[in-house]
Amino acid sequence: MHRQTIRLLDVTFDNLTQAEAIHKATEFLEERRFHLIVTPGPEFLLEATAHQQFRDILNHADLSIADGMGIHLGTRLTGQRLRQRIPGADFVLDLMSVAAKKGSRVFLFGAKNGVAEQATKKLLQLYPTLNIVGIESGSRGHWTKLHDHRIVERIHLAKPDILLVALGAPKQELWIDQHRAALHNVRIAIGVGRTFDYLAGTIKRAPKVMRDTGFEWLHTYLNAGKYYQPEHRRQRVTNATVRFIIELAKHHRAPRY
Ligand code: UDP
Repeated sequence: MHRQTIRLLDVTFDNLTQAEAIHKATEFLEERRFHLIVTPGPEFLLEATAHQQFRDILNHADLSIADGMGIHLGTRLTGQRLRQRIPGADFVLDLMSVAAKKGSRVFLFGAKNGVAEQATKKLLQLYPTLNIVGIESGSRGHWTKLHDHRIVERIHLAKPDILLVALGAPKQELWIDQHRAALHNVRIAIGVGRTFDYLAGTIKRAPKVMRDTGFEWLHTYLNAGKYYQPEHRRQRVTNATVRFIIELAKHHRAPRY
């Protein structure tokens, strides 16, 4: 079937409602092959402007979900219409609900030591029948090829249907892409950013009223200083707002050949 898409800064994503996106993911679980799901927000798109490999990965994903208010605004500014904003963390929870019902096997990889364990506890409270078959922390920094090999081996032995990878963007998408051929059995791999931290409570999500009105980003940035270095925080704020709008204006005004 023809995919309804939107395009911003040379990245194409699916223009679906959350229910349609979950329906698509449910179909992926029934197909015996690997599928990559990505959840691009403004910071992904900015990174992708200067990073061709990342851009190609986003553009070749099996499902690409528009995450957040920035994308909504971007589509408006470029004369397109986004059908629904789908916060990545909400999508992951819906996916876990489907996994619990279908008995799909889930593996959590990423976040600091102990966070994925806490996230697992929370997921099991929310979905008691969820089958979590493995956990591996993503301890910040660089790990060696040997480490990578060990992690892939663990995932291989655990035979998950769904692999959640929390290493932040673009690291998580690059990691999945680099290892996808070795991730036998995995039917859905998805980069989940800070979702484990939200579940574990190490980072607080915005109150529901802010999430519903599209202001989750503001909460994230106002509170970012608690979790990031001040310089990193300033850069994130600038990237997600000012730079994104400038790039959109430049990009969509330029003649396209
Ligand atoms: N993370 C990790 N290893 C790394 C880099 C990041 O496990 O080498 C984890 C980090 O602890 C957090 C998640 O990835 O749980 C998201 O990181 P960050 O907030 O930096 O990324 P963003 O959500 O901004 O893309």
